Amino acid sequence: LAVKGVQALSPYQPGKPIDELARELGLKPDNIIKLASNENPLGPSPKALAAVKGALDELCRYPDGNGFDLKQALSARYGVAPAQITLGNGSNDVLEVITRCFADASSEVVFSQYAFAVYPLVTQAIGAKGVSVPARDYGHDLNAMVEAITDRTALVFVANPNNPTGTVHGAEAIESFLARIPPRVLVVLDEAYCEYLQGEGYVDGLSLLKRYPNLIVTRTFSKAWGLASLRAGYSVSSPDIANVLNRVRQPFNVDFLALVAATAVLSDEDYLRRSCEVNAAGMKQLESAFNEMGLEYIPSAGNFIAVDVGDQAADINQSLLEQGVIVRPIGGYGLPRHLRVSIGLPEENARFIEALARALDTSS
Ligand code: PMP
Repeated sequence: LAVKGVQALSPYQPGKPIDELARELGLKPDNIIKLASNENPLGPSPKALAAVKGALDELCRYPDGNGFDLKQALSARYGVAPAQITLGNGSNDVLEVITRCFADASSEVVFSQYAFAVYPLVTQAIGAKGVSVPARDYGHDLNAMVEAITDRTALVFVANPNNPTGTVHGAEAIESFLARIPPRVLVVLDEAYCEYLQGEGYVDGLSLLKRYPNLIVTRTFSKAWGLASLRAGYSVSSPDIANVLNRVRQPFNVDFLALVAATAVLSDEDYLRRSCEVNAAGMKQLESAFNEMGLEYIPSAGNFIAVDVGDQAADINQSLLEQGVIVRPIGGYGLPRHLRVSIGLPEENARFIEALARALDTSS
């Protein structure tokens, strides 16, 4: 039925919704915690919530297809021009539009082993050849990625920090990588988790745009900004690239409530600070529990952590589900011994740790 690339596609596997698990296991939804999709455990920002409530009367109107207010707010916050921004229905949408605009069936698209699942998916969907480069210590082997570039390479995807491994490269490594990429090849630096980076490790892809016109930085409102359900993301690039992307994206790809909420949340500094604090504390809580339990984990710069629970990961995951804890098995990413758990509130993390201890006990 479908074209070749599409026939061979397996769909993106999202974390199980709470209601579905409740039905399957006969549990009450209130007794289930979901730490599977790298969502913000704080609930939405009060400023975003108030803005959405105040906007409901406008639901009969089309949204602003150019996202004027949101682009102004992004421009003011990050010092980029509105003409550099392309808005998307989540950053996934932008990743897909980028791939459609700049690669075709004759192209190769380079990404890392254990890279975010959407890169191979959008590559395959257009019939391009995905080139998966073996990882190094679970992270991107940037040198090997440069070496994987051929005359046919159109795009290179780098997630920094990466999902599902949480690995991150510092500013120097990213910059020397970019310096070695031929200017005709576009680099997508996916910074979905950049807000969680703190202190010295902080890499700001936006600061590199002037020097590297072939760079596209993508970001999202789904993680630290806590708006995953509304689907708002964006890319920042040269105005020429943005102009191409804006020609191809759907005219109203970001809905009205998403625009309103994203614009409002950008001024909620307190929410962003709390998101990062809760995440840093939760990361410590999980790391020390894993250390005590003798479990190895991949040190993570995101809002999630991948822990090695051994050969029985599928059974452990099943036991966690039966205890009402949803995490993400990442065998599909080539990490069959690991489970990826999103950082929750302290009590959610504690419940996960208890459930994991019980699951490990019964499996041994
Ligand atoms: N990039 C990475 C690395 C991600 O982990 C995610 C979310 N899982 C996204 C992009 C897409 O996020 P969204 O579409 O919600 O903006």
